[in-house]
Amino acid sequence: MRKIFAINAGSSSLKFQLLAMPAEEIIAKGIFERIGEPESAFTLVYQGQKETEKLVLSSYKEAVNYLLKRLDEKGIIQSLADIAGIGHRVAHGGDYFKASALVDESVLTKIDELSFLAPSHNPANLEVIKAFKELLPNTPNVAVFDTAFHQTLSEEYYLYPLPRKYYDKYRLRKYGFHGTSHKYISLITKEVYRQQALDTDQLKVISCHLGNGASICAIKGQQSINTSMGFTPLAGLMMGSRSGDIDPAILPFLMEEEGLTPSQITAILNKESGLLAVSEISNDLRDIEEAYHKGYSQAITAIEMFTNRIAHTIATYMVDLGGADAIVFTAGIGENSRLIREKVAEKLSVFGVKLDHEANESSKKLISKDDSSIKLFVLPTNEELMIARDTMELIS
Ligand code: ADP
Repeated sequence: MRKIFAINAGSSSLKFQLLAMPAEEIIAKGIFERIGEPESAFTLVYQGQKETEKLVLSSYKEAVNYLLKRLDEKGIIQSLADIAGIGHRVAHGGDYFKASALVDESVLTKIDELSFLAPSHNPANLEVIKAFKELLPNTPNVAVFDTAFHQTLSEEYYLYPLPRKYYDKYRLRKYGFHGTSHKYISLITKEVYRQQALDTDQLKVISCHLGNGASICAIKGQQSINTSMGFTPLAGLMMGSRSGDIDPAILPFLMEEEGLTPSQITAILNKESGLLAVSEISNDLRDIEEAYHKGYSQAITAIEMFTNRIAHTIATYMVDLGGADAIVFTAGIGENSRLIREKVAEKLSVFGVKLDHEANESSKKLISKDDSSIKLFVLPTNEELMIARDTMELIS
C-alpha cells in the first residue's frame, strides 16, 4: 500500500486527500481556507470525524507545513517517508502539456511560463508544489493539468475565427478546463458499458460537469472532441456567477458607457453574472430552486436559461460526435439537482431522449427509460482519484 496526496490549490484555499493506492481508499481529507487572510481555517476529516480549527497561515508553505505536522501528530502518517507521491491539480498546461507530468525543474519553468494564461491559478499551484518539494525533498511530485485532456481537440475546434496573428502571438485558442473530471467520467462510463458487455471502442459520451463552474465535453473513444470552456473558464455555459458565452460586442459597449476598466468588466462577467445575475437571488442553485418552486419569475427564467444552454450545447455535440450513446450528469448540480436533469431531458426529447422520472427522483445511476435513444447517467466525479491514479502511474 502506498500513500498518495491529491492536492487541489485554489486562489486562497488548499484541498487535499490522502489516498491509499492502489486500493483507491481515502485515508484522510480536508481543506485549508482563507490562506493569507487574518484568520484561516483548517478542516480535517479522518475516520468519520470532522474537526475544524482556526489559525493564522500567511502562505501555502505554512499550510503544507501545518498539514504534515497534524497528520504526523494524529498518527495518520508515521513518518514523512510514508508518502510515496504528491499529485497536484494545475490549472493551465497550455498547448504544451498533453498529459500529466512528473515535476522537475523544466516542468516548473514551463508552468511558470504558462502563468500568463492563468494568472490567478498557475502561480498558486507553483507555490504549493515548491512548498512540498522543500518540505519533502525526496518525494516525487506530479502535475495534473486541467487542460490536458482537451489537447486532442482538432484545429477546427480550438481555433477562434480571429486574425491568425493573435494565435501566433498569444496562443489565443480554446483550451477547455475540467479535463480531469471529464476524463474520469469518460473512464467510468466506459466501465459501465464494459460491465454490460457493450462495445466501448468508439463510445460517444457527452459529459456534463455542472457545478459552480460548469462545462460540457464531447468524448469519442475516450478522446475529447469538443468542450464548452474556451481560452478561459468564462466561456460556454451560463454558470453560478459567470456569464458564459455572450455577444462579444457587449464588452466594449459596457466599458465605454460605464467607463469600466478591463479588470472591472472581467470581474462583472466572472462574479456578478450567470445564475446570480438573472435570478438576483444567489449563485447557489439550491436557493434558486427554492424560489423556483415558489413561482418566483426571475428564478424560473434563470433555470430555463441555464437548462436551455445545457441542452443547446448537448445538441451541438451530437452534431460533432455524429450522435451520442450516453449523456452523463456530474458535479454538485449534475449529481444532485433532479430539476435540472429533468428540464434538460425534456428539452432533448425531440431527439428521442426519455427520462425515467422515478429513477431521476432517486438519483439512480441510470435515469433514462429502456427505449430512450440516448442513455442518461448520474455518475459522481472524482478528480482527486484521477490525480492519485496519474501520480501512481508516473512515480512507478
Ligand atoms: P464547484 O466545485 O464548481 O465549486 P460544486 O461541484 O460543488 O461546485 O457544485 C456546486 C453547485 O451544486 C451549487 O450551485 C449548489 O447549489 C449545487 N448543489 C449542491 N447540492 C445540490 C442539491 N441538492 N440540489 C441542487 N443543487 C445542488
